Amino acid sequence: MDCLFCKIGNGEIPSYTVYENEYVRCFMDINPVHDGHVLIIPKKHFLDNNDITLEYLGEINKASKKVMKLLNDKLKPDGIKLVQNNGIIQEVKHYHLHLIPIYEVKKENSDVKDVYEILSK
Ligand code: AMP
Ligand code: ZN
Repeated sequence: MDCLFCKIGNGEIPSYTVYENEYVRCFMDINPVHDGHVLIIPKKHFLDNNDITLEYLGEINKASKKVMKLLNDKLKPDGIKLVQNNGIIQEVKHYHLHLIPIYEVKKENSDVKDVYEILSK
């Protein structure tokens, strides 16, 4: 199947990966809502929240706690929003969880690469 996030998951397409293990990859969204916007994907293809297994959902949740800690430690946002789209509002048809940092004082977004460097230091 020709799936963008399967290719990112298996490393065929490069990504700014902040955390990965055998089940998941966590990488920077290329078009961030705010600085530090990360996507968590299963390395196995699932369409959405109906389709994904509890095993993989558990791994996504475990990874979300690790990435939240990383975002809080390195970027010190005022909040973090978790979003997962299904159906017509889902653009990429491979399950992904968004972690979107929220900042009380809004500034221009930085380059994704610069934010990635802060997160991977
Ligand atoms: P959704 O509407 O939940 O399907 O969101 C898809 C997200 O994937 C959007 O926030 C896009 O900016 C992001 N996205 C699309 N292509 C890439 C890519 N190659 N690398 C990183 N993020 C991507
Ligand atoms: Zn896929």
